[in-house]
Amino acid sequence: MASGFSRTYTAAMRRDPLEYLSTELQALRDQGLYRRLRVLDAEQKARTSIDHRVVINLSSNNYLGLTTHPTLVERALEATRRLGVGSGSVRTIAGTMEIHMELERRLAAFKRTEAAVVFQSGFTANAGTVSSILGREDVIISDELNHASIIDGARLSRATIKVFPHRDAGAARQILKTLPREQRTLLITDGVFSMDGDLGALPELCDLAEEFGCIMMVDDAHASGVFGDCGRGTVDHFGLHGRVDVQVGTLSKAIGALGGYVAGSRALIEFLYHRARPFLFSTSHPPAVAAAGLAALDVLESEPQLIAQLWENTRFFKAGLQALGFDTGASESPITPVIVGDAALAMQLSDRLFEKGVFAQGIGFPTVPQGKARVRTIVTATHTRDELQFALDCFKAVGAELGILR
Ligand SMILES: *Cc1c(COP(=O)(O)O)cnc(C)c1O
Repeated sequence: MASGFSRTYTAAMRRDPLEYLSTELQALRDQGLYRRLRVLDAEQKARTSIDHRVVINLSSNNYLGLTTHPTLVERALEATRRLGVGSGSVRTIAGTMEIHMELERRLAAFKRTEAAVVFQSGFTANAGTVSSILGREDVIISDELNHASIIDGARLSRATIKVFPHRDAGAARQILKTLPREQRTLLITDGVFSMDGDLGALPELCDLAEEFGCIMMVDDAHASGVFGDCGRGTVDHFGLHGRVDVQVGTLSKAIGALGGYVAGSRALIEFLYHRARPFLFSTSHPPAVAAAGLAALDVLESEPQLIAQLWENTRFFKAGLQALGFDTGASESPITPVIVGDAALAMQLSDRLFEKGVFAQGIGFPTVPQGKARVRTIVTATHTRDELQFALDCFKAVGAELGILR
């Protein structure tokens, strides 16, 4: 008991060194930016129950409804029964199972590259790749709206980071012109930008990469399963096979499970096996996750109507929001932002929609720039026309109520 007493005594005497965190949280509350986590009490679906309210879900990346697809569920269960729930090790020690290798072979074929490597997530795929293939002497030229995992990977690499204005290949060219000819340089863009739903300047950047001898890298997290033949991504969509050295994708969005991957040359992939820190130092996927990824690739090829339906829903919903008079930015994908500017207003819009039965998350700084706050909508292949019409009716009512629409 004495030791218990002394611990309590010490705690009571010691000022909480994390007190500043509470102060910052209070500041968020004062600005109307404090967010409680929304909790699903059902499956991740187009219509689900969140915080005990049945809502139309416009915030999921489950583009094709694969999170609950019977083929994926069955194959994940089968792999669990056959191989267990965990891999037990990192890939480079004892954590590489045949099912991991099979998934990598399938992903390489899907992306039409020599090889592929799977990471725990899209985040670790980007961060682990950028930080390992580049070093202190190198330069990274990056779109200003690239994903946080690219930014973190760039920082970890210690390379010089130069940011070009969004989609502005002309500005990227001006940066390249200032560099010595022999400078090793990475040119990097998202395929689809996650907060705006527009596409990276891929064709122009590929031209630049060839002209200046850069490594060309595309993060297709939101494009895989959505753009291109059977969902092969923006590289396929723009006809750029063979011109992008490093393609990143995720298994966490349209593929419906969890994970990230890099597709490219055999040498790139073998280098990542040796040097990418999340690959070396973090345990590989459970068999069920790899099995779900494999099943998803089968579904992409056997059920092309899913992608067709996704695009039909996208056209309907985007046109509906625009006809109501909302600012939907420059979106070209199933991601359609409703940009309102003020962060507190975006959160209010999201909250009122939720009360009416539509879940569309409000997004503010630092996820999007100050003054560009929005409610982001994502339709999926599995939303019905009635569900989308109901959501549009709610947007109309709440938009008028909050003075966003006049
Ligand atoms: C979601 C996302 C990631 C991260 O993928 P996860 O598999 O969720 O870790 C990376 N890049 C972009 C552009 C994304 O939108």
